[in-house]
Amino acid sequence: MIDKGSMLLRASAAGETVRAMAAVTTSVVEEARQRHGTFPTATAALGRTLTAGLLLGATMKDEERLSIELVGDGPLRRVMVSTNGDGQVRGYVARPTTHLPSKNGKLDVAGAIGDGLLCVMRTQPWNKEPYRSVMKLVSGEIAQDITHYLATSEQMPSATALGVFVNADGTVGAAGGFLVQILNGAASELSELIEHNVAGLPHVTSLIQRGDGPREILAAVLAGLDARLIADEPVCFACPCTRERVLGALLLLGSTEIDDMIRQEGQAEVRCEFCAERYVVGRDELTMLIRDTEGSA
Ligand SMILES: [Zn+2]
Repeated sequence: MIDKGSMLLRASAAGETVRAMAAVTTSVVEEARQRHGTFPTATAALGRTLTAGLLLGATMKDEERLSIELVGDGPLRRVMVSTNGDGQVRGYVARPTTHLPSKNGKLDVAGAIGDGLLCVMRTQPWNKEPYRSVMKLVSGEIAQDITHYLATSEQMPSATALGVFVNADGTVGAAGGFLVQILNGAASELSELIEHNVAGLPHVTSLIQRGDGPREILAAVLAGLDARLIADEPVCFACPCTRERVLGALLLLGSTEIDDMIRQEGQAEVRCEFCAERYVVGRDELTMLIRDTEGSA
């Protein structure tokens, strides 16, 4: 799928003491919706988390991976998103057909998630152990939870906005967000100025619907802060799953299990949880796998 229009822009401001990124992710979220068949409230929860992943991912190096997981007692149960530092993101929700009545004219994402936990994990190839932080959800609306995570876990004051607008027919009309981080050593008036800018803005999906891109959004958020735009990059929904990996996973099951599949189904069907891609492995290929397991035994 050609990802028309989903872009992320990084910027710095106030002499490098402020770091900011904005993204328009409409086509990323629409692709996720189509792959997983999500209903509007689930689409909004997944879309906000996918966007948060891309924004946080923009602060990482290429080889790093980041995952954001929300687990709650609401009907959605779980949201899982994983991204690399290269603008590729993937994700799913436990119950894609979750939809709740709107609350104050907005999709009730907090109601769908309920009370629960946010887990952010950073995997860095140069560190043996992944860096993992788990905390209670403060709102379930996701943007506030990400802000809380950055403040408590990374001691980084920030402002986060995430939004997904779902059309009457269930498709994604607009999605995106921004993240502004105030680095150590920044003047104290800066956060007030940023708060003032953010408070004066329409909702981020209204900006995107009127045609604003990451450039216009950052210009508004960083107004008066001497912003320097760093790089524009395309972002997309992408999953590294392949047929080879699926075969590798089947191989691990062992010959008895594979033999059972051949006898009971005549084939194996494996669905990738992250991207909903289905892989069908036929009888001949399964028979060859058994030979491989015996060869390696
Ligand atoms: Zn996949």
